[in-house]
Amino acid sequence: MNKGLSENVLRKRLDASIRSLGCGKPMIEGSLSAIRVTCGNPNCRCAKGEKHISHILTCKVNKKTKSVYVPTDMVEEVTAWVEEHRRIKKKLKEISALGEQLIKQHVVVRRAVAKNFKLQKESPQT
Ligand SMILES: [Zn+2]
Repeated sequence: MNKGLSENVLRKRLDASIRSLGCGKPMIEGSLSAIRVTCGNPNCRCAKGEKHISHILTCKVNKKTKSVYVPTDMVEEVTAWVEEHRRIKKKLKEISALGEQLIKQHVVVRRAVAKNFKLQKESPQT
């Protein structure tokens, strides 16, 4: 069996991960993409094939794709929100994985301690 990292090391890593989560920055779930659209004005250049570029943020909610139009002057900002959401999501997975390791490690240590205690009780006194 994989001995794994000690509980102390895991707890330190967990603390570091939680701290690196950071707080206070906006975030949003989804992916931002550029699409080509027509505005509907028959006299516009888009009607002749020179379409406008529009940005949408798409996200799956209850297995349905939801999309939100993102105004051009917000694209940069929303891109940062999307990146922040991805970073946090990754961190949360990391924190869960560390927590799982810690639980398993704790069980291993507790069993070893119990076994050791039993051995001491069984060994004859000197
Ligand atoms: Zn147009």
